[in-house]
Amino acid sequence: MARTQLDDVTKVFTDDDGSDIVAVDDVSIDIADGEFLVLVGPSGCGKSTTLRMIAGLESITGGEIRLDGRLINDVPAKDRDIAMVFQSYALYPHMTVKENMSFGLEESTDLSEDEISARVEKTAQMMGIGDLLDRTPGELSGGQQQRVALGRAIVREPAVFLMDEPLSNLDAKLRAQMRTELQHLQEELGTTTVYVTHDQTEAMTMGDRIAILNDGELQQVGTPLECYHEPANLFVADFIGEPAMNFIEVTRREGDGDGAVLVGDRLEYRVSADIAEATEGRSDLVLGVRPEDIEIEFDQEAEQRVNGHEVSATITVVEPTGDENIVYLSLDDEEGVSVTERVDGDVSDTIIATVDGMTRVESDDRVAAHIPEDAIHVFDAESGDALHNRRVDATEPRIENV
Ligand code: ATP
Repeated sequence: MARTQLDDVTKVFTDDDGSDIVAVDDVSIDIADGEFLVLVGPSGCGKSTTLRMIAGLESITGGEIRLDGRLINDVPAKDRDIAMVFQSYALYPHMTVKENMSFGLEESTDLSEDEISARVEKTAQMMGIGDLLDRTPGELSGGQQQRVALGRAIVREPAVFLMDEPLSNLDAKLRAQMRTELQHLQEELGTTTVYVTHDQTEAMTMGDRIAILNDGELQQVGTPLECYHEPANLFVADFIGEPAMNFIEVTRREGDGDGAVLVGDRLEYRVSADIAEATEGRSDLVLGVRPEDIEIEFDQEAEQRVNGHEVSATITVVEPTGDENIVYLSLDDEEGVSVTERVDGDVSDTIIATVDGMTRVESDDRVAAHIPEDAIHVFDAESGDALHNRRVDATEPRIENV
């Protein structure tokens, strides 16, 4: 178990024609002892390179990596007390499960054969593969192979686990199951874990904290809910959450009193003093609202009213997922004509809302969409920085401990 610190870590590759590729750009993350940190971001953002630098499989161009305070920049991979699990299970095909799991211990420790056997068996039981120890990888399913690969890392009892998309070869159901198992396991073992994925759902559900990368640059580090409700910028707001947050381009105009008005193509949204103050002096802004925060009122021929927080819209598409309906809304313009009626195929004025799965919704329904002010985010259009995030109230526990 170990605290793992990255201080201004940078990796520059040189490609064939001699130009530099900055894969990881000045990244600093302080990972606590026993923490489960998920590194997430789109393909090519530098996740694997960061992990490989921690493992010692890639040299570091700049910055420092420390394990429990000890600088490990130049420590060879085998001496770092770190175990890595890859997307490809990389098991030795001619060895049995038991041999695959024992191999690393035989090579790198002076444990006796009996001690190795005992450790392998204990780990195999914990991983639910106790009765597969004599099989070879070719005789196992993908899920079982992945358990062996994880077991092989666990049996080493390392200070840190590094996992690079370890579940991505599994089908959706098994993946969800392994996600939960892996979390339980990590809690039980208490081993510091850095887990790489491009899947935001995996990041949200597994991490104590998540670190979001884009183009080699760290965008935000925080708990999943912090990143969801209080994104640092447009990139994070867009990346975290499915369906994604809605974004509406607006310009800011002074309003009555202390307020301001966010003026878009299809709405004039009045905001009160705190948001007006947070956006003071800016002109081009982006108003963000999550699909689940938009309240849809049916049976209502909607018109712009109440501070412009309610706009009339026409449902264009409904995607039922069972527990909810994902509803695509085309905002009406001033004449009350739906945008898609006028501009065929133009979906730029479409926003997405989610409603309960039991609610009957159909395309062409005309509705009122209410965008509550306490749920909106406002970003600077140029820098992407969040100027205002939604209100987050501390919630009361539903069940009191007696
Ligand atoms: P993915 O999810 O697709 O695996 P990633 O976020 O893990 O992506 P990296 O593999 O870390 O991204 O790559 C980051 C950047 O560095 C990419 O632009 C990639 O092309 C580049 N890169 C990675 N390895 C090398 C290398 N050995 N030589 C040159 N460029 C590299």
